[in-house]
Amino acid sequence: MERRVVPFAPLKPGEVGLYTCGPTVYNFAHIGNFRAYTFEDILKRTLEFFGYKVHQVMNLTDVDDKTIRDSRAANLPLRTFTEKYKKAFFEDIKTLNIEPAEVYPAATDHIPEMIALIKILMEKGFAYQAEDKCIYFSIAKFPAYGRLARIDRENQRAGVRINTDEYAKDSVADFALWKAWDENDGDVKWESPWGPGRPGWHIECSAMSSKYLGTAFDIHTGGIDNMFPHHEDEIAQSEAANGKKWVNYWLHCEHLMLNGEKMSKSLGNFYTLRDLQAKGWRGQEIRWVLVGAHYRKKLNFTFEALAQARETLNRFSAFFARMRGVSAPGDGSEIRGQIDSALEKFGSAMADDLNTAEAVAQLFELSREANRLADAGTLSKAGAAEVLAAFRKFDSIIGCLDVDKVPEAEEIPPELAALAEQRAAARKAKNFAESDRLRDEISAKGYLIEDVPGGGWRLKKK
Ligand code: AMP
Ligand code: ZN
Repeated sequence: MERRVVPFAPLKPGEVGLYTCGPTVYNFAHIGNFRAYTFEDILKRTLEFFGYKVHQVMNLTDVDDKTIRDSRAANLPLRTFTEKYKKAFFEDIKTLNIEPAEVYPAATDHIPEMIALIKILMEKGFAYQAEDKCIYFSIAKFPAYGRLARIDRENQRAGVRINTDEYAKDSVADFALWKAWDENDGDVKWESPWGPGRPGWHIECSAMSSKYLGTAFDIHTGGIDNMFPHHEDEIAQSEAANGKKWVNYWLHCEHLMLNGEKMSKSLGNFYTLRDLQAKGWRGQEIRWVLVGAHYRKKLNFTFEALAQARETLNRFSAFFARMRGVSAPGDGSEIRGQIDSALEKFGSAMADDLNTAEAVAQLFELSREANRLADAGTLSKAGAAEVLAAFRKFDSIIGCLDVDKVPEAEEIPPELAALAEQRAAARKAKNFAESDRLRDEISAKGYLIEDVPGGGWRLKKK
């Protein structure tokens, strides 16, 4: 709201109410949509990292202009049509390791709550029924209209009406709360005091957020394109009805771009998560690309970035395997200072408006330090275990590393990891005779050893 970073203070100590606008379930979500959901996941996990208990509500928009249009084109009942995409959405967030919200209210299950809210707006004089039988919100009655999206009062065309769910800033006008049924809606309609019809998109979020989070809560988020008109309209409806401030903090993520244009269904320039999976990319690789950029910066999607993510994550897996194989004695004090410093810097970067790029730099820094000590043979088993524990903490937010996952096919017996370790130390000491002997010993046990730049190694079954 203020376009600056402000300290976060929750309404209830230790708890956070978080409302995140969810998918419109008329198609498979594309990775632009998933940039928004991943950013929200990072926000939630960061709050949890700092000990907050987060109550997240994400709505499912299963009735609006687009779901009705496409269910009719598919010749399917609305519910059957949206069910398929709801199911796909839950599969997809699992693929991306997105923590589930506490509640996923669907719009069609909350029509009475929306009608009740519109009734209050009618009683208080903020809404009116027009000749077309639709109910509109009168923006002239709400002087704060436009504060979030920063729209001048002069550009507001009070009294002019718009009944589509989405519209541009230059057509700001009284917007529809309840849309009277017409033949384009087919059999999609509910009874209301104003005749049969259906809710507008914006009223869904006002009604469902107050049902599950109360009439005032901490944080509301979405993609930047949600700011206007969707969030502006949500504020008008909620604050007019409740007569008080609704949301304390607003966060919006910038767009995921493809060749310089916003990735979007309407432009047709998009990849669904499933498209990328079909090309062989894994959820963690896609997540790594999305997480690495700051949420308020535009991010251009490329396959080079995915390839780099694969390379980076493979290196981390090899690094974790190496750490598991460390067997030298000691109490971990040789690396504790670096671990504490990395965790400290990681935490402050995330606390500073989710600076993921800076936070991720700590992962590279700590792995470099640990590799350096392991090369010199001075990293202890206890130290390596502490390094792994630190990476589990990093990954409680980053969510891409799978620190403890040993791919079954590549599971390396500890005895072989120990031989590989000894060989790395021998190479470091330029004892090439010993290093060759160890290579042969490893080979005789059925494994090939490859050197990884920076002193690491990788074992493969022959
Ligand atoms: P929709 O299903 O169209 O309501 O969009 C769901 C979420 O995805 C909203 O928070 C949008 O703001 C967000 N979104 C849509 N396209 C993009 C994009 N290219 N980059 C980032 N977020 C997006
Ligand atoms: Zn919403």
